[in-house]
Amino acid sequence: MSTDPRLLAERVSIETGLAFTGSEGWDNDGCRWFELLPAEHPVGQTFTLRTVVGWRRIDVHFRPGNFAADLVEAMGAVDETGRRTFRSVLGACCDAGAGVVLTVNGAASDLGDEAIWAVPWRSFGLVISKGMLSINEGDVEADMRQIGLWTSRAAAAIFALLPLEASVDDAEEESGEVIGLPEGAKTRIEVNRYERDQRNRAAALAIHGYSCKACELDMGKRYGAVAAGLIEVHHVTPVSELGPGYIINPKTDLTPLCPNCHSVAHRRSPPFSVVELRRMLQLI
Ligand SMILES: [Zn+2]
Ligand SMILES: [Zn+2]
Repeated sequence: MSTDPRLLAERVSIETGLAFTGSEGWDNDGCRWFELLPAEHPVGQTFTLRTVVGWRRIDVHFRPGNFAADLVEAMGAVDETGRRTFRSVLGACCDAGAGVVLTVNGAASDLGDEAIWAVPWRSFGLVISKGMLSINEGDVEADMRQIGLWTSRAAAAIFALLPLEASVDDAEEESGEVIGLPEGAKTRIEVNRYERDQRNRAAALAIHGYSCKACELDMGKRYGAVAAGLIEVHHVTPVSELGPGYIINPKTDLTPLCPNCHSVAHRRSPPFSVVELRRMLQLI
């Protein structure tokens, strides 16, 4: 079995809710690359994410299309939630030992530099590089996990900046459900609103991974490919404790839980904590 770009595209599509297609090839230096492209968009007006697998390293490059000026400008004008999610994901990459190179309008920029948001973006580049990896040593599945992890982190960072409309269906469904429900059920639905924000979800999965933080189950490993990426994202702090306009930090506020643990967590309002769930399971 070889590493399959379609699996990579599928993973990132599940995480972001945006359809990607995948391709692969070899560059002039003899390095293998994988490329993800948003499906159903004119190539020149969108972007690619190219993951280059080198000797003990992985580099993921964001490249806007040649006619993507509007997209780049919109990314630079993203709302505060998008900015924070972007910083949170890239901060997690740095914490994991990766290098992050950000260029805005041709100049290398610091992740924490607020000034990058104050100017209209004419060009934007992002490269995430992770070296010192055990890769290309014969374990194809382990290689795929590393390639998937770093590609998904880059995708979550970029996704946070994309000018996407919130789903109208979700909003309608929620307002319909809230009517007449008891307090506990209402709380649960409000929690879901945060958990369903696709930017937060993609960022939380890119940062925390796919294993349930309570029981440690990885649905994809347990059930096989059909369940890959099947994990729920839970809000750690009860929504009732958050002030209006609170902006989620996916690293500290969100955690992946399997459907079982997530249901158990919400048997109480406010929900059981991850530590309490782990105690129930006698894991601590
Ligand atoms: Zn679980
Ligand atoms: Zn939850």
